[in-house]
Amino acid sequence: MNTVFNPAPAVSLPVNGRAERFPVHRIYCVGRNYEEHAKEMGFTGREPPFFFLKPADAVVVVNTRETGSMPYPSLTQSLHHEIELVVAIGTGGKNIKAADAHKHIYGYAVGLDMTRRDLQNDMKKQGRPWDIGKAFDHSAPIGPVTPVAQAGDVAQAEIYLKVNGADRQRSNVSKLIWNIAETIEHLSSAWELQPGDLIFTGTPRGVAAVAAGDTLVGEVAGLGKLSVKIA
Ligand code: MN
Repeated sequence: MNTVFNPAPAVSLPVNGRAERFPVHRIYCVGRNYEEHAKEMGFTGREPPFFFLKPADAVVVVNTRETGSMPYPSLTQSLHHEIELVVAIGTGGKNIKAADAHKHIYGYAVGLDMTRRDLQNDMKKQGRPWDIGKAFDHSAPIGPVTPVAQAGDVAQAEIYLKVNGADRQRSNVSKLIWNIAETIEHLSSAWELQPGDLIFTGTPRGVAAVAAGDTLVGEVAGLGKLSVKIA
């Protein structure tokens, strides 16, 4: 194909135990999906799931045993961390029932839904889209995809984030308000899921600001550690 300029390179993630990579299509994110986090943001914790997106090229690929680098973004005084379990879709579909959702999952990863909280809050107040707060460049550091068969019982896995060695977020994936299967059911009623889609499933309570020079280390048990330094 002749193009008027070179297309952007495809975004992909390493896959644990394989040479082939996981090509990223879209990044969907679930809002307020742990009750204690919904409460810290001023909500009841009991509402239907809602979604926003990040562009695929917002991914910062972080390899196993490496510390990734995320530049401190422009326009914000309040860059927040949100550690999340990420579901990697291998088989697409629409109107997927929760009972069938597992057939569509290729694997799981650990991701950070980095957020310009001050800009997101401004947009919320004005009833405007969240994109400037959520979908900015480098806003999605993410580790390798672990295929389902090697991932263990992710639905019951501990999840935590430390900043400079100190605990900031700690919970368990079992505390998701809308579990993985229910999230896929809701999401696929609104969009047709495609192979390569990533779903950030939501963050536990404890979100807070980070500064340039901080090192973030997060983990979902069974999926390995994600380490990122804010440059
Ligand atoms: Mn989030």
